[in-house]
Amino acid sequence: MTASIFSAEHLLFRPATPASDAVPTIFAFPNEYSVGITSLGYQVVWAILASRSDLQVSRLFTDCQEPLPQQVELFGFSLSWELDYANIFALLEAQGIPIRSAERSTEHPLVFGGGPVLTANPEPFADFFDVILLGDGEDLLVNFIDAYQTVRDRDRYTQWLALAQVPGVYVPSLYAVTYVSPEGPIESIQPCTTGVPERIQKQTYRGNTLSSSTVVTPHAAWEQIYMVEVVRSCPEMCRFCLASYLTLPFRTPSVIGSLLPAIERGLTVTNRIGLLGASVTQHPEFDTLLDHLNQPQYDGVRLSISSVRTNTLTPKLATTLAKRDARSITIAIESGSERLRQIINKKLENDQIFQAAANAKAGSLQGIKFYGMAGVPGEVESDLEATVSLLRDIKRSVPGLRLTYGCSTFVPKAQTPFQWFGVNPQAEKRLQFLQKHLRPQGIDFRPESYNWSVIQALLSRGDRRLSALLELTRDYGDSLGSYRRAFKQLKGKLPDLKFYVHADWLQTQVLPWSHLQGPLPQATLQKHWADATAQFQAA
Ligand code: SF4
Repeated sequence: MTASIFSAEHLLFRPATPASDAVPTIFAFPNEYSVGITSLGYQVVWAILASRSDLQVSRLFTDCQEPLPQQVELFGFSLSWELDYANIFALLEAQGIPIRSAERSTEHPLVFGGGPVLTANPEPFADFFDVILLGDGEDLLVNFIDAYQTVRDRDRYTQWLALAQVPGVYVPSLYAVTYVSPEGPIESIQPCTTGVPERIQKQTYRGNTLSSSTVVTPHAAWEQIYMVEVVRSCPEMCRFCLASYLTLPFRTPSVIGSLLPAIERGLTVTNRIGLLGASVTQHPEFDTLLDHLNQPQYDGVRLSISSVRTNTLTPKLATTLAKRDARSITIAIESGSERLRQIINKKLENDQIFQAAANAKAGSLQGIKFYGMAGVPGEVESDLEATVSLLRDIKRSVPGLRLTYGCSTFVPKAQTPFQWFGVNPQAEKRLQFLQKHLRPQGIDFRPESYNWSVIQALLSRGDRRLSALLELTRDYGDSLGSYRRAFKQLKGKLPDLKFYVHADWLQTQVLPWSHLQGPLPQATLQKHWADATAQFQAA
């Protein structure tokens, strides 16, 4: 089975032949193959590693693996989903490797991790990694491996010290965290020794090209898909949005010089293209790309787009997607209330939402999925009523278009202006309110689990004290009840769930990620926070 999975892959790069002294390396995705291989980030990092002749790389998933090397020296993880941490524990233990960095010796591999979860806030997972790579992998990974080669034969502490000199490489064990009290906030985060940077700067790739698939396979979750990253980050800066703030600045490769050649490469092995990015249609040359893909030679191509900004859903885009096998499109409106959208800095008017729905229908799409949140900071009851009435009016004014409203709970994300806000405990009731009023109107309301949002918020704002909790929940399961049980068991050793999840934090509080520098200075985030809160009273 495993052999047939890997032999079905079409590779779009040439793996190197490992040199005789190549470093035995495992690069793992802590979930099933179909999930991991659908992550463009995992594909790209794997290709960077496998293109080096000084590494001998094997891939590892929870359900299959390539033949693993003896005496592994480097063991890497790409973490895209928070709850996959339990699989990291299992994969390490299956290789006889202690899960905590402090319990590993030079006999064990150096365990490194990267990906969006670890870049935003690595702290709940910090005790499990020797090294965490913060930011875009392209140059960072190369610099990390080059630095490792220079200290390959040294003891683990010397390796840590040397690797900590590489910009963007975070060695958690070299930083000491103190707390106001065992159940209180953080007091300080300081390097344990001299010669280690006080703050670690997240790395930003500045090259002219972005990522595209390095492997296409029928066994991916989106089978046979070839993915092209059309933009990185988003210039809109909605105040809750990790996809924008964590990856700024907004980057757009040239359509003619970069994106079209990438798409042509993909079309040599598949007819299914996915255009990815936080806000794909904001590429300044998106129309040129669309015109190109509208040509008859692309008639057999299936096209999907990850996200579209409301006012960029033109009839032309809808027609192109419908012609290229898409049935519906997803648009994030966040709320039907213009007041609330101003609070979150979403520059979008109700008229534009109506127009997008009309354009979707005019372009022959069968449905439109709006995406929103409940419990957004500053939200009051009249905002929920505004959402209900907007969707009801759209349903009436564009008959025949299937209307879906997916709704999650606001979750604070590190490195965004809303990082200081807690989850609103009323959000669960608000989801029920929306359900009660939308479903009878024929609107397909799809709420995301409130409990899952609470767990996400816990991991999103957690500090290192959560590591013991994560080890416990592993045996208890991933329901919110399991987390509550673990909190009870650890009472007196860390703050309660409410502190991490629901409390609004003070601007003066030392954040668990205070020593990690994101793209924007703290003062800019604070200014956005102040601009938002100044509008709270205007309900
Ligand atoms: S438009 Fe979408 S991707 Fe861009 S900042 Fe707003 S929510 Fe994020």
